[in-house]
Amino acid sequence: MVISEASAGGRLTIDLGALKANYRRFAALAARDGAACGAVVKADAYGLGVERVVPALLAAGCRTFFVVQLDEARVVRPLLPDDVSLYVLNGLYPGSAPDYPAIGAIPVLNSLAQAREWAALASARGERLPAALQFDTIMSRLGMPPEEVEAIASEPGFRETIDLKLVMSHLACSEDRDAPANARQLRIFEEAAALFPDVSRSLANSGGTVLGGAFAGDLVRVGIALYGGIPTEHPNFALERVVSLDAKVIQLRTVPPGTGVGYGLTFTTTRETRIATLGLGYADGWLRSLSGRGAAYYGGQRLPILGRVSMDSMAIDVTDLPPVSLHEGDWVELIGPHQSLDEVGAAAGTISYEILTSLGARYHVRVIDEEAA
Ligand SMILES: *Cc1c(COP(=O)(O)O)cnc(C)c1O
Repeated sequence: MVISEASAGGRLTIDLGALKANYRRFAALAARDGAACGAVVKADAYGLGVERVVPALLAAGCRTFFVVQLDEARVVRPLLPDDVSLYVLNGLYPGSAPDYPAIGAIPVLNSLAQAREWAALASARGERLPAALQFDTIMSRLGMPPEEVEAIASEPGFRETIDLKLVMSHLACSEDRDAPANARQLRIFEEAAALFPDVSRSLANSGGTVLGGAFAGDLVRVGIALYGGIPTEHPNFALERVVSLDAKVIQLRTVPPGTGVGYGLTFTTTRETRIATLGLGYADGWLRSLSGRGAAYYGGQRLPILGRVSMDSMAIDVTDLPPVSLHEGDWVELIGPHQSLDEVGAAAGTISYEILTSLGARYHVRVIDEEAA
């Protein structure tokens, strides 16, 4: 559904020029270490829409994409040229193997059982099928434990049956450059990868790209940083803002001191207060945990959220704005030059990833591309 600016309570601006600039930045960083830069476009490109994000990343030079499940691959594959690779990170769900060749997606095999299932399909079809292998290197999430890695490395016929494109693992603590786990994971990963000396390696996500050249391997897998989220304190993370979010002022009122605001009347005014009601709430992904904690901005002025965020609206204090500066129908900033995606995540007690992937479907969406303009 396309939502007009006039009918929307929120306006989401997606800057594809900034997305491409961020991609090129990480591609250049990876190239210095001899690695390529893949893009993670799972969860509908972190909520921004694969149909707009994937073509922009292709234009910026990306040749490897990652999603997490097959249905996402079904949507992304038709957007890609034949020579561009598409991996499915969560692996072969039971019974799903035959769908992969039909779609043209490459499974990440996360267990010995998955590897054998894939090899059996390849044998049955009489063709070599492509795959990646994921090793579990201390995170205990997805991937083969060391004994399975050894088993598959010495499995008779496996390498002849399977066209092994990539061995990979995932960093548990990449956002913390000082975490001892990073070096430990790198060592465990390199030991396992040494059993497949001719195969490309991939370890780093966004945070991992600044941990040092050894983490880059042959392919980095960048997600959140492409979309403007900064997962680490590292100074190299000056990114361009891809997402801006504005909320519409849908009602203005002035109330006396001692007036309750919102569900539960959790906030009571202590002065005569000018309140603006904004036309979005937690159903739009403006999390309820921002109740009484977050803020909007207008003309550079911070305007605190008063009381609870409702499903479809919330109240902000606009008393300190110059009189008659704000009108019903005006837009105030929620994510933009004065308040970053990461700051919103922190105020909500979560991370930028969750803010992005929670963004709802009721926004008027503006797609801009400064480069193309
Ligand atoms: C989500 C994901 C990524 C991307 O992580 P970011 O922190 O968003 O860069 C990379 N690899 C795997 C396996 C993932 O699940």
